[in-house]
Amino acid sequence: MSIPILMYHQIDVPPARGTPLRGLVVSPDSFARQMFLLKRLGYRGLAMRDLEPYLRGEKRGRVVGITFDDGYRNNVQNALPVLMKHGFGATCYAVSGMIGAVNSWDREVGVAQKPLMSTKDWRVWLDKGMEVGSHTRTHADLSKLGADEAAREIALSRHELEDGLQCEVRHFCYPYGRFDTTHRQLVQAAGYVTATTTHRGRAQVGDDLYALRRVLVAQATHLLQFALKIMSSYEDRRG
Ligand SMILES: [Zn+2]
Repeated sequence: MSIPILMYHQIDVPPARGTPLRGLVVSPDSFARQMFLLKRLGYRGLAMRDLEPYLRGEKRGRVVGITFDDGYRNNVQNALPVLMKHGFGATCYAVSGMIGAVNSWDREVGVAQKPLMSTKDWRVWLDKGMEVGSHTRTHADLSKLGADEAAREIALSRHELEDGLQCEVRHFCYPYGRFDTTHRQLVQAAGYVTATTTHRGRAQVGDDLYALRRVLVAQATHLLQFALKIMSSYEDRRG
């Protein structure tokens, strides 16, 4: 069974043309149409914790994982109401050391600086039944760190989020999609049950739960393409 895990970043009015990574900002209208289409097609959008039994092959059904990277405030403002309207769940991967800050890890490459969720925003997100996952403490490029530092980024972020937001954190997402077998083992040792990547494709039962593929939804993803990415092998280039 193929299980698409959607990868979103920001749900907002796109920044000016020419801004780096502008393509990752999906407009609120597009997001609303995508969620409506999922519902019409009979899919349920799930947080990673509810996707676990499907990934392990214990349950079958028309399900889609919904994930957001980085924890932008516009997720709670623009995505949450739409998710709730359809009864969908979602997981947002937080950078534990940057709660209430901005995406400063991208500043040097000229990416527009946007507010990240504050503790209060995260409380709203959690109180509405959504899930928080970890995206390290500082949005670290793990491939540039030694094993000890990588271990801290991976394990401490989980503790900081669990303590700070009073919730269980079970899922991890590699910043920039960069990881190797050591990082994979560190994530497992830290007690996470899955880790998502930026590798393209739908997840399949039996896949490595610490190297899950995802389906990128970008600003340019039109609705037909969105449907194809979920329902067909369009996205499943293995490599
Ligand atoms: Zn990220």
